[in-house]
Amino acid sequence: MEKAAFAAPVPRALATEAVHAGREDLAQLGLHAPPLDLSTTYPSYDAAAEAERIDAFAASGGRLEGPPVYARLDNPTTARFETALARLEGAESAVAFASGMAALTAVLLVRASRGLRHVVAVRPLYGCSDHLLAAGLLGTEVTWTDPAGIAAEIRPDTGLVIVETPANPTLAEVDLDAVRHACGSVPLLVDNTFATPVLQRPLEHGARIVLHSATKYLGGHGDVMGGVVACDEEFAGRLRQVRFATGGVLHPMAGYLLLRGLSTLPVRVRAASATAAELASRLAADPRITRVRYPRIGGAMVSFEVRGDPLRVIAGVRLITPAVSLGSVDTLIQHPASISHRIVAETDRRAAGVGEQLLRLSVGLEDIEDLWLDLDAALDASRAVSPAASGVDSRSGAPLAPGGRGAPAP
Ligand code: PLP
Repeated sequence: MEKAAFAAPVPRALATEAVHAGREDLAQLGLHAPPLDLSTTYPSYDAAAEAERIDAFAASGGRLEGPPVYARLDNPTTARFETALARLEGAESAVAFASGMAALTAVLLVRASRGLRHVVAVRPLYGCSDHLLAAGLLGTEVTWTDPAGIAAEIRPDTGLVIVETPANPTLAEVDLDAVRHACGSVPLLVDNTFATPVLQRPLEHGARIVLHSATKYLGGHGDVMGGVVACDEEFAGRLRQVRFATGGVLHPMAGYLLLRGLSTLPVRVRAASATAAELASRLAADPRITRVRYPRIGGAMVSFEVRGDPLRVIAGVRLITPAVSLGSVDTLIQHPASISHRIVAETDRRAAGVGEQLLRLSVGLEDIEDLWLDLDAALDASRAVSPAASGVDSRSGAPLAPGGRGAPAP
Protein backbone atom coordinates (compact mmCIF):
# COMPACT_ATOMS: atom_id res chain seq x y z
CA MET A 1 0.00 0.00 0.00
CA GLU A 2 1.25 3.51 -0.78
CA LYS A 3 2.39 5.46 2.20
CA ALA A 4 0.10 8.42 2.83
CA ALA A 5 1.19 12.00 2.35
CA PHE A 6 0.05 13.36 5.69
CA ALA A 7 0.38 17.08 4.99
CA ALA A 8 -1.66 19.24 7.34
CA PRO A 9 -2.67 22.27 5.30
CA VAL A 10 -3.88 24.55 8.09
CA PRO A 11 -3.47 24.38 11.86
CA ARG A 12 -6.57 22.81 13.33
CA ALA A 13 -7.91 22.67 16.86
CA LEU A 14 -6.74 19.77 19.01
CA ALA A 15 -10.14 18.07 19.09
CA THR A 16 -10.24 18.17 15.29
CA GLU A 17 -6.71 16.84 14.91
CA ALA A 18 -7.53 14.05 17.36
CA VAL A 19 -10.14 12.58 15.02
CA HIS A 20 -8.63 13.50 11.64
CA ALA A 21 -4.83 13.47 11.87
CA GLY A 22 -3.19 10.40 10.36
CA ARG A 23 -6.31 9.74 8.29
CA GLU A 24 -5.87 12.29 5.49
CA ASP A 25 -5.62 9.69 2.73
CA LEU A 26 -8.60 7.57 3.73
CA ALA A 27 -11.11 9.16 1.36
CA GLN A 28 -8.65 8.71 -1.48
CA LEU A 29 -8.32 5.03 -0.50
CA GLY A 30 -12.10 4.69 -0.40
CA LEU A 31 -12.04 3.94 3.34
CA HIS A 32 -13.63 5.46 6.38
CA ALA A 33 -11.83 3.61 9.20
CA PRO A 34 -8.03 3.33 9.10
CA PRO A 35 -6.77 -0.02 7.77
CA LEU A 36 -4.67 -2.35 9.91
CA ASP A 37 -1.58 -3.62 8.09
CA LEU A 38 -0.06 -6.62 9.86
CA SER A 39 2.51 -7.48 7.17
CA THR A 40 6.00 -8.20 8.36
CA THR A 41 7.38 -7.92 4.83
CA TYR A 42 6.35 -6.47 1.48
CA PRO A 43 6.85 -7.76 -2.06
CA SER A 44 9.58 -6.11 -4.04
CA TYR A 45 10.23 -6.98 -7.70
CA ASP A 46 12.95 -4.39 -8.19
CA ALA A 47 15.81 -5.32 -5.86
CA ALA A 48 18.11 -2.59 -7.16
CA ALA A 49 15.54 0.14 -6.46
CA GLU A 50 14.88 -1.27 -2.99
CA ALA A 51 18.62 -1.38 -2.23
CA GLU A 52 18.82 2.31 -3.13
CA ARG A 53 15.99 3.17 -0.78
CA ILE A 54 17.59 1.23 2.06
CA ASP A 55 20.89 3.04 1.45
CA ALA A 56 19.00 6.30 1.50
CA PHE A 57 17.38 5.34 4.83
CA ALA A 58 20.80 4.76 6.35
CA ALA A 59 22.38 7.86 4.83
CA SER A 60 19.52 10.32 5.20
CA GLY A 61 19.02 9.96 8.92
CA GLY A 62 16.25 7.47 9.07
CA ARG A 63 13.46 8.34 6.68
CA LEU A 64 12.30 5.59 4.36
CA GLU A 65 10.67 7.03 1.25
CA GLY A 66 8.11 5.06 -0.74
CA PRO A 67 6.35 1.83 0.14
CA PRO A 68 7.25 -0.17 3.24
CA VAL A 69 9.96 -2.85 3.13
CA TYR A 70 10.03 -4.69 6.44
CA ALA A 71 8.08 -4.24 9.67
CA ARG A 72 11.12 -3.39 11.78
CA LEU A 73 11.82 -0.47 9.42
CA ASP A 74 8.33 0.97 9.31
CA ASN A 75 4.65 0.12 9.22
CA PRO A 76 1.83 2.14 7.63
CA THR A 77 -0.58 1.69 10.55
CA THR A 78 1.99 2.77 13.11
CA ALA A 79 2.90 5.68 10.83
CA ARG A 80 -0.67 6.94 11.09
CA PHE A 81 -0.43 6.96 14.88
CA GLU A 82 2.94 8.72 14.70
CA THR A 83 1.56 11.38 12.39
CA ALA A 84 -1.44 11.97 14.63
CA LEU A 85 0.58 12.18 17.82
CA ALA A 86 3.09 14.55 16.21
CA ARG A 87 0.21 16.78 15.18
CA LEU A 88 -1.27 16.77 18.69
CA GLU A 89 2.08 17.65 20.27
CA GLY A 90 2.83 20.29 17.62
CA ALA A 91 5.94 18.33 16.57
CA GLU A 92 7.53 17.82 13.17
CA SER A 93 7.68 14.05 13.73
CA ALA A 94 6.99 11.25 16.15
CA VAL A 95 8.54 7.81 16.50
CA ALA A 96 6.68 4.98 18.19
CA PHE A 97 8.18 2.16 20.26
CA ALA A 98 7.09 -1.05 21.94
CA SER A 99 6.72 0.69 25.31
CA GLY A 100 7.49 3.93 27.10
CA MET A 101 10.69 2.35 28.43
CA ALA A 102 11.78 1.34 24.92
CA ALA A 103 11.20 4.95 23.84
CA LEU A 104 13.33 6.32 26.68
CA THR A 105 16.03 3.74 25.94
CA ALA A 106 16.18 4.84 22.29
CA VAL A 107 16.52 8.52 23.28
CA LEU A 108 19.38 7.71 25.67
CA LEU A 109 21.11 5.56 23.02
CA VAL A 110 20.88 8.34 20.43
CA ARG A 111 22.58 10.76 22.81
CA ALA A 112 25.16 8.20 24.00
CA SER A 113 26.04 7.41 20.38
CA ARG A 114 27.35 11.00 20.23
CA GLY A 115 29.43 10.51 23.36
CA LEU A 116 26.88 12.43 25.43
CA ARG A 117 26.36 9.97 28.26
CA HIS A 118 25.60 12.35 31.09
CA VAL A 119 21.98 13.06 31.98
CA VAL A 120 20.62 15.65 34.39
CA ALA A 121 17.29 14.57 35.81
CA VAL A 122 14.73 15.86 38.27
CA ARG A 123 13.13 13.45 40.73
CA PRO A 124 10.63 12.01 40.97
CA LEU A 125 10.46 10.18 37.67
CA TYR A 126 8.44 7.04 37.04
CA GLY A 127 10.18 4.29 39.05
CA CYS A 128 11.55 2.35 36.11
CA SER A 129 12.81 5.50 34.34
CA ASP A 130 14.59 6.38 37.59
CA HIS A 131 16.02 2.86 37.74
CA LEU A 132 17.19 2.85 34.11
CA LEU A 133 19.19 6.01 34.80
CA ALA A 134 20.31 5.29 38.36
CA ALA A 135 21.48 1.76 37.60
CA GLY A 136 23.46 2.96 34.58
CA LEU A 137 22.09 0.05 32.58
CA LEU A 138 22.86 1.81 29.30
CA GLY A 139 26.18 3.26 30.44
CA THR A 140 24.63 6.64 31.11
CA GLU A 141 25.59 8.64 34.17
CA VAL A 142 22.93 10.64 35.96
CA THR A 143 23.02 13.68 38.20
CA TRP A 144 19.81 14.19 40.16
CA THR A 145 18.84 17.72 40.99
CA ASP A 146 15.87 19.97 41.57
CA PRO A 147 14.69 22.34 38.84
CA ALA A 148 16.64 25.25 40.34
CA GLY A 149 19.87 23.23 40.23
CA ILE A 150 19.78 22.17 36.57
CA ALA A 151 22.03 24.90 35.12
CA ALA A 152 24.80 24.17 37.66
CA GLU A 153 24.86 20.46 36.79
CA ILE A 154 25.30 20.79 33.03
CA ARG A 155 28.68 19.46 31.83
CA PRO A 156 30.32 19.30 28.39
CA ASP A 157 29.18 15.68 28.06
CA THR A 158 25.60 16.31 29.19
CA GLY A 159 23.33 14.95 26.48
CA LEU A 160 19.93 15.42 28.01
CA VAL A 161 17.90 17.01 30.77
CA ILE A 162 14.88 14.94 31.82
CA VAL A 163 11.81 16.11 33.69
CA GLU A 164 8.38 14.63 34.22
CA THR A 165 5.65 17.17 34.82
CA PRO A 166 3.29 16.47 36.49
CA ALA A 167 5.59 13.83 37.93
CA ASN A 168 4.72 10.26 38.75
CA PRO A 169 3.53 9.82 41.49
CA THR A 170 3.72 13.11 43.43
CA LEU A 171 2.25 15.23 40.62
CA ALA A 172 5.02 17.77 41.27
CA GLU A 173 5.19 20.31 38.45
CA VAL A 174 8.06 22.30 37.02
CA ASP A 175 8.01 25.66 35.28
CA LEU A 176 8.84 24.48 31.77
CA ASP A 177 9.99 27.92 30.55
CA ALA A 178 12.42 28.25 33.46
CA VAL A 179 13.69 24.69 33.05
CA ARG A 180 14.17 25.15 29.33
CA HIS A 181 16.18 28.31 30.03
CA ALA A 182 18.35 26.44 32.56
CA CYS A 183 19.17 23.76 29.98
CA GLY A 184 21.02 26.18 27.68
CA SER A 185 21.83 24.24 24.51
CA VAL A 186 21.25 20.81 26.07
CA PRO A 187 18.04 19.20 24.80
CA LEU A 188 15.21 19.04 27.30
CA LEU A 189 13.11 15.86 27.38
CA VAL A 190 9.70 16.21 29.00
CA ASP A 191 7.77 13.08 29.90
CA ASN A 192 4.27 14.29 29.09
CA THR A 193 2.50 11.03 29.96
CA PHE A 194 0.44 12.52 32.80
CA ALA A 195 -0.51 15.81 31.16
CA THR A 196 -1.05 14.61 27.57
CA PRO A 197 -1.06 17.24 24.80
CA VAL A 198 -4.59 18.09 25.87
CA LEU A 199 -3.26 19.90 28.94
CA GLN A 200 0.34 20.73 28.06
CA ARG A 201 2.46 20.91 24.90
CA PRO A 202 6.08 21.04 26.07
CA LEU A 203 7.53 21.78 22.61
CA GLU A 204 5.80 25.16 22.77
CA HIS A 205 7.96 25.85 25.84
CA GLY A 206 11.16 25.01 24.00
CA ALA A 207 11.52 21.34 24.98
CA ARG A 208 13.20 19.38 22.18
CA ILE A 209 11.79 15.96 23.00
CA VAL A 210 8.41 14.86 24.37
CA LEU A 211 8.03 11.31 25.59
CA HIS A 212 4.87 9.34 26.35
CA SER A 213 4.12 6.03 27.81
CA ALA A 214 1.38 5.53 25.22
CA THR A 215 0.21 2.65 27.42
CA LYS A 216 -1.56 5.29 29.52
CA TYR A 217 -3.85 8.08 28.26
CA LEU A 218 -3.01 7.82 24.55
CA GLY A 219 -4.31 4.24 24.44
CA GLY A 220 -6.75 5.03 27.19
CA HIS A 221 -8.40 1.64 27.62
CA GLY A 222 -5.79 -0.39 29.47
CA ASP A 223 -5.33 -2.79 26.56
CA VAL A 224 -2.31 -1.60 24.62
CA MET A 225 1.35 -1.05 25.45
CA GLY A 226 3.45 1.46 23.60
CA GLY A 227 5.73 4.44 23.79
CA VAL A 228 6.24 7.44 21.54
CA VAL A 229 8.67 10.32 21.17
CA ALA A 230 7.62 13.60 19.53
CA CYS A 231 10.49 15.76 18.28
CA ASP A 232 12.05 17.43 15.25
CA GLU A 233 12.67 15.38 12.12
CA GLU A 234 16.43 15.31 12.59
CA PHE A 235 16.17 13.65 16.02
CA ALA A 236 13.32 11.43 14.78
CA GLY A 237 15.60 10.08 12.04
CA ARG A 238 18.21 9.03 14.59
CA LEU A 239 15.51 7.43 16.71
CA ARG A 240 14.27 5.44 13.71
CA GLN A 241 17.80 4.22 13.05
CA VAL A 242 18.14 3.09 16.67
CA ARG A 243 14.69 1.50 16.55
CA PHE A 244 15.57 -0.36 13.37
CA ALA A 245 18.88 -1.54 14.80
CA THR A 246 17.64 -2.50 18.26
CA GLY A 247 14.16 -3.70 17.32
CA GLY A 248 11.93 -2.05 19.91
CA VAL A 249 9.12 -1.51 17.39
CA LEU A 250 5.47 -1.01 18.22
CA HIS A 251 3.26 -3.83 17.02
CA PRO A 252 0.89 -2.58 14.26
CA MET A 253 -2.14 -3.75 16.24
CA ALA A 254 -0.94 -1.48 19.04
CA GLY A 255 -0.47 1.33 16.51
CA TYR A 256 -4.05 0.77 15.36
CA LEU A 257 -5.41 0.86 18.92
CA LEU A 258 -3.35 3.93 19.78
CA LEU A 259 -4.64 5.83 16.74
CA ARG A 260 -8.14 4.90 17.77
CA GLY A 261 -7.38 5.95 21.36
CA LEU A 262 -6.15 9.37 20.24
CA SER A 263 -9.48 10.19 18.67
CA THR A 264 -11.19 10.30 22.08
CA LEU A 265 -8.18 11.61 24.02
CA PRO A 266 -9.43 15.21 24.46
CA VAL A 267 -12.89 14.08 25.55
CA ARG A 268 -11.57 11.43 27.94
CA VAL A 269 -8.96 13.68 29.51
CA ARG A 270 -11.35 16.58 30.01
CA ALA A 271 -14.13 14.42 31.48
CA ALA A 272 -11.81 12.51 33.83
CA SER A 273 -10.09 15.75 34.85
CA ALA A 274 -13.37 17.32 35.92
CA THR A 275 -14.09 14.30 38.14
CA ALA A 276 -10.52 14.25 39.47
CA ALA A 277 -10.65 17.95 40.39
CA GLU A 278 -13.86 17.39 42.35
CA LEU A 279 -12.45 14.30 44.09
CA ALA A 280 -9.29 16.24 44.96
CA SER A 281 -11.32 18.97 46.62
CA ARG A 282 -13.44 16.46 48.57
CA LEU A 283 -10.28 14.67 49.72
CA ALA A 284 -8.65 17.97 50.69
CA ALA A 285 -11.55 18.68 53.06
CA ASP A 286 -11.53 15.17 54.53
CA PRO A 287 -10.06 14.58 58.01
CA ARG A 288 -8.92 11.07 57.00
CA ILE A 289 -6.50 12.65 54.51
CA THR A 290 -3.39 14.57 55.51
CA ARG A 291 -2.32 15.88 52.11
CA VAL A 292 -3.73 16.04 48.60
CA ARG A 293 -1.72 16.70 45.49
CA TYR A 294 -3.51 17.83 42.37
CA PRO A 295 -1.70 19.52 39.47
CA ARG A 296 -2.08 23.22 38.81
CA ILE A 297 -2.67 22.37 35.13
CA GLY A 298 -5.42 19.89 36.06
CA GLY A 299 -5.54 16.30 34.89
CA ALA A 300 -7.05 12.99 35.87
CA MET A 301 -4.47 11.99 38.49
CA VAL A 302 -4.87 12.69 42.20
CA SER A 303 -2.33 11.69 44.81
CA PHE A 304 -3.07 11.82 48.51
CA GLU A 305 -1.66 10.82 51.84
CA VAL A 306 -3.89 9.01 54.29
CA ARG A 307 -3.86 9.22 58.06
CA GLY A 308 -4.65 5.51 58.34
CA ASP A 309 -3.22 2.46 56.64
CA PRO A 310 -2.86 3.03 52.88
CA LEU A 311 -2.83 -0.70 52.18
CA ARG A 312 -6.27 -0.97 53.76
CA VAL A 313 -7.56 1.58 51.27
CA ILE A 314 -6.16 -0.55 48.46
CA ALA A 315 -7.74 -3.65 49.98
CA GLY A 316 -11.01 -1.82 50.61
CA VAL A 317 -11.96 -0.55 47.16
CA ARG A 318 -14.61 -2.46 45.24
CA LEU A 319 -15.43 -0.39 42.14
CA ILE A 320 -11.97 1.11 41.75
CA THR A 321 -9.33 -1.39 40.64
CA PRO A 322 -6.17 -1.74 42.70
CA ALA A 323 -3.59 -1.91 39.91
CA VAL A 324 -0.49 -0.26 38.52
CA SER A 325 -0.67 1.80 35.35
CA LEU A 326 -3.00 4.71 34.77
CA GLY A 327 -4.92 6.62 32.16
CA SER A 328 -7.61 4.03 31.52
CA VAL A 329 -11.35 4.62 31.14
CA ASP A 330 -11.79 3.04 34.58
CA THR A 331 -10.34 4.24 37.86
CA LEU A 332 -7.20 2.64 39.27
CA ILE A 333 -5.46 3.08 42.61
CA GLN A 334 -2.02 2.01 43.71
CA HIS A 335 0.52 2.45 46.50
CA PRO A 336 3.70 3.82 44.84
CA ALA A 337 6.07 2.94 47.69
CA SER A 338 5.07 -0.73 47.33
CA ILE A 339 4.72 -0.98 43.59
CA SER A 340 5.45 1.62 40.88
CA HIS A 341 8.39 3.15 42.79
CA ARG A 342 9.49 0.08 44.70
CA ILE A 343 12.58 -0.22 42.53
CA VAL A 344 13.84 3.22 43.65
CA ALA A 345 16.08 3.16 46.75
CA GLU A 346 14.01 4.00 49.83
CA THR A 347 16.01 7.10 50.79
CA ASP A 348 15.75 8.52 47.25
CA ARG A 349 12.08 7.69 47.14
CA ARG A 350 11.37 9.45 50.40
CA ALA A 351 13.48 12.47 49.44
CA ALA A 352 11.38 12.80 46.28
CA GLY A 353 8.20 12.88 48.38
CA VAL A 354 7.11 9.30 47.78
CA GLY A 355 6.27 8.32 51.34
CA GLU A 356 4.55 5.27 52.80
CA GLN A 357 1.22 7.07 53.26
CA LEU A 358 0.95 8.14 49.62
CA LEU A 359 -1.70 6.68 47.30
CA ARG A 360 -2.03 7.44 43.59
CA LEU A 361 -5.45 7.53 41.99
CA SER A 362 -5.94 7.48 38.22
CA VAL A 363 -9.45 8.76 37.73
CA GLY A 364 -11.52 7.26 34.94
CA LEU A 365 -14.89 7.98 33.43
CA GLU A 366 -17.22 6.56 36.09
CA ASP A 367 -19.81 8.75 37.76
CA ILE A 368 -18.21 10.79 40.52
CA GLU A 369 -20.73 9.75 43.19
CA ASP A 370 -20.03 6.05 42.61
CA LEU A 371 -16.31 6.72 42.88
CA TRP A 372 -16.75 8.77 46.02
CA LEU A 373 -18.90 6.09 47.68
CA ASP A 374 -16.19 3.52 46.99
CA LEU A 375 -13.33 5.73 48.18
CA ASP A 376 -15.27 6.84 51.23
CA ALA A 377 -15.87 3.24 52.32
CA ALA A 378 -12.26 2.27 51.67
CA LEU A 379 -11.02 5.29 53.64
CA ASP A 380 -13.25 4.32 56.53
CA ALA A 381 -11.64 0.90 56.48
CA SER A 382 -8.22 2.55 56.64
CA ARG A 383 -8.84 4.53 59.81
CA ALA A 384 -5.84 4.68 62.06
CA VAL A 385 -6.28 1.45 63.93
CA SER A 386 -3.04 -0.25 64.78
CA PRO A 387 -2.90 -3.71 63.17
CA ALA A 388 -2.55 -5.35 66.60
CA ALA A 389 -5.60 -3.51 67.96
CA SER A 390 -7.70 -4.34 64.92
CA GLY A 391 -6.74 -8.01 65.03
CA VAL A 392 -6.48 -7.95 61.25
CA ASP A 393 -3.40 -8.01 59.03
CA SER A 394 -3.58 -4.82 56.99
CA ARG A 395 -2.00 -6.40 53.92
CA SER A 396 -4.02 -9.56 53.60
CA GLY A 397 -7.07 -8.68 55.65
CA ALA A 398 -6.58 -12.04 57.42
CA PRO A 399 -7.00 -12.30 61.19
CA LEU A 400 -3.71 -11.81 63.00
CA ALA A 401 -2.29 -14.76 64.85
CA PRO A 402 -1.58 -14.18 68.56
CA GLY A 403 1.65 -12.22 68.68
CA GLY A 404 0.55 -9.77 66.01
CA ARG A 405 1.63 -9.00 62.46
CA GLY A 406 4.18 -11.11 60.73
CA ALA A 407 3.04 -14.49 61.94
CA PRO A 408 2.94 -16.67 58.84
CA ALA A 409 -0.48 -17.51 57.50
CA PRO A 410 -1.37 -21.18 57.77
N1 PLP B 1 6.76 7.43 31.96
C1 PLP B 1 5.79 7.48 32.88
C2 PLP B 1 5.42 8.79 33.48
C3 PLP B 1 5.15 6.31 33.30
O1 PLP B 1 4.20 6.38 34.24
C4 PLP B 1 5.55 5.07 32.72
C5 PLP B 1 4.90 3.81 33.13
O2 PLP B 1 4.18 3.78 34.10
C6 PLP B 1 6.56 5.06 31.78
C7 PLP B 1 7.14 6.25 31.39
C8 PLP B 1 7.01 3.76 31.15
O3 PLP B 1 6.07 3.39 30.20
P1 PLP B 1 5.77 1.83 29.78
O4 PLP B 1 5.20 1.17 30.98
O5 PLP B 1 4.81 2.01 28.65
O6 PLP B 1 7.06 1.26 29.37
